[in-house]
Amino acid sequence: MSTNPYPLGLRLAGRRVVVVGGGAVATRRVPALLDAGADVFLVAPELTPALHGHVDAGRLHWERRRFLPDDLDGAWLVQVAVDDPVAAASVSAAAAERRIFCVRADDRAAATAWTPAVTRHGPVTVAVLGGGDPRRAMTVRDEVRALLATRGPGEGGTAPAGATRPAGAGRASDPAAGGGRVALVGAGPGDPELITVKGWRLLTEADVVVADRLVPGLLLDELRSDVELVDASKIPYGPARAQEEINRILVDRALAGRVVVRLKGGDPYVFGRGGEELLACAEAGVPVTVVPGVTSSIAAPAAAGIPVTHRAVAHEFTVVSGHVAPDSPASLVRWDALAGLRGTLVILMGLKNLAAIAAVLVAHGRPADTPVAVVQEATTGAQRQLRSTLGAVAADVLAAGLRPPAVVVVGDVVDALAAGFPG
Ligand code: SAH
Repeated sequence: MSTNPYPLGLRLAGRRVVVVGGGAVATRRVPALLDAGADVFLVAPELTPALHGHVDAGRLHWERRRFLPDDLDGAWLVQVAVDDPVAAASVSAAAAERRIFCVRADDRAAATAWTPAVTRHGPVTVAVLGGGDPRRAMTVRDEVRALLATRGPGEGGTAPAGATRPAGAGRASDPAAGGGRVALVGAGPGDPELITVKGWRLLTEADVVVADRLVPGLLLDELRSDVELVDASKIPYGPARAQEEINRILVDRALAGRVVVRLKGGDPYVFGRGGEELLACAEAGVPVTVVPGVTSSIAAPAAAGIPVTHRAVAHEFTVVSGHVAPDSPASLVRWDALAGLRGTLVILMGLKNLAAIAAVLVAHGRPADTPVAVVQEATTGAQRQLRSTLGAVAADVLAAGLRPPAVVVVGDVVDALAAGFPG
């Protein structure tokens, strides 16, 4: 008789799944069951803190006791996550009697179902069974995960590199909208590895990528050759018209059924005009999602060894744009009020107005000897930084020739880790 397993994707939404056991194995198994929408019924005398968390949040039902055969009434599947072979066998027997598939963490041979090693890429789930060897399954799963991370789950396995394909092909996109949609994706501060997993997946699925000047070039290097790349920094109008033009490109391409990624430096909503783009898509009826990014306001200080908060040093950090001069009628920033704060001040787009910003902070009470750091092109190979004080930083930046993009960090956190970075 063949012992080959028969693969299935169980659709568990709203269906009862019984989990027996409240230890480490159950803790690992429960999240995927909840993710599948299963009605999880957990039987165990004790729970791990993580499982308690699910119970407290009302995500599953817990019976605080040992297993009883009647627990399986109405169940579609049972997961046995106990070490005791006698207890596990009694669950198996009750499950077999009721013709319910039974997964056993303790004994693969006694189980009637096996859980595969899994990797998920948006709508695509890859499940690997290792022929009785879970380590082999995990190795294969890791290889598939690495492959999909670079190529995207929509790519055919046999197509030659650079092959073209129809827009929206090969992936489960939104059929109601003809597949066209926009994702506003944060690309992170500069290091191409600092994009999120989700952002990267969407990038590998895109037909059109509209990229900012600050987007790491290496991310764009890896796009398929059939992807239309629009360089938003080359749009030849003033800033206001250029934004309208970007909005138009996003909407037009999506309405034509294409999958558009609007790739933005850092986080899309931190001085990134992501909100305007979202509204433009929404007004045109284009499905639009936002994928947050690692913002330079936190990452640039971190890359220079500066934590934006530190115990007993700073209990707050404020992120502010310095692109409008403090004395300009167009300024929306209360620099006088910021000067009264004790915590960390992170200034983006602040180099041009740095002398005026430092002066207004000192004039309103921030001490002139407050430590300041300036970090240029953080997290890239070209990163440069200097440390100074509020009183001296403008002159020091000029002397050192630091240029945008740069982040200015003001506050005692600048020195907080100095002991950890000798020299
Ligand atoms: N949305 C972006 C910020 C856009 S405003 C984010 O969340 O990071 C542009 C400003 O961000 C630049 O003028 C600079 O102040 C800062 N910036 C972006 N990337 C940077 C980097 N790698 N190093 C230093 N500053 C950076």
